[in-house]
Amino acid sequence: MKHLLGLEGLSAAQLTKLLDSAERFAGVGVGDVPKGDALKGKVVVNLFYEPSTRTRMSFGLAARRLGADVLDFSPGGSSTAKGESFIDTAKNIEAMGIDAVVVRHSSPGAPHVLAKALKPHVRVVNAGDGAHEHPTQALLDILTIRKKLGRVAGLTVGLVGDIAHSRVARSNIYGLVALGAKVIVCGPTTLVPPEVARLGVKIADKLDDVIPQCDVLNLLRVQFERQRSGLFPSIREYRLLFGVDADRMKRAKPNVLLLAPGPINRGVEISPDVADGPNSAILDQVTNGLAVRMAVLNAVCAAA
Ligand code: ASP
Repeated sequence: MKHLLGLEGLSAAQLTKLLDSAERFAGVGVGDVPKGDALKGKVVVNLFYEPSTRTRMSFGLAARRLGADVLDFSPGGSSTAKGESFIDTAKNIEAMGIDAVVVRHSSPGAPHVLAKALKPHVRVVNAGDGAHEHPTQALLDILTIRKKLGRVAGLTVGLVGDIAHSRVARSNIYGLVALGAKVIVCGPTTLVPPEVARLGVKIADKLDDVIPQCDVLNLLRVQFERQRSGLFPSIREYRLLFGVDADRMKRAKPNVLLLAPGPINRGVEISPDVADGPNSAILDQVTNGLAVRMAVLNAVCAAA
């Protein structure tokens, strides 16, 4: 694998190889387990044009645990403020001698543009491009499912919320469908584009009917920053129809696995008691994210 630009088009075998590798990386550099050296001497750049907590920090930590040096770029305080373009910025950082770029940008396709613009030895990993894809988030969601429930194929996964603006939804759909899960997407009709059915998922608009069927519920954040206004009447109404709280959980299978990519809007898509309750694997996702990012950096840099 040269770059990881998205999960679209990856086969079950390719996805499984990455997930297996992530399981092997879990815990490397923690306690008595020594750090790895697969990326020793390599330079990994975090090029983040949008805010991030989990993705950015875990990519940085993952690279360091594999022995790489890490450069961190954010537009605030950089020459972006003086008008320097995305490509010029990337090429100038590249001129310092780098091996991989982890990029987050509001424009869908930005990682693809970078993969073409940079020198052939530089690897590009998509850390979220607009509403398009967020491949490592989906991999860590799927790894969490696999670790908690023992399999992915044959499970029913509900993706709930703002499907239209969610890169997490799109990457999850590609990965889960390729691995043989049944995916149901559910949200306000204004936030679920009908074309999504072409990706092999079922569309439903009543969460109360979807919940009892699901082995996994992935509760997606309403992407207020990407929406024009008026896509649903009010946050209160959203919560009443699509928020998961203790009352709604009574309809779920007792062992339903609850995921959320974070940041969570407590009291909107998920109530605080459910977010912190026994079915929630939200913090396990974060832990698994580190292992996934080690596996991805190792896979792309090993091909260098
Ligand atoms: N952190 C994830 C993303 O960057 C999910 C979210 O922001 O809702 O897409």
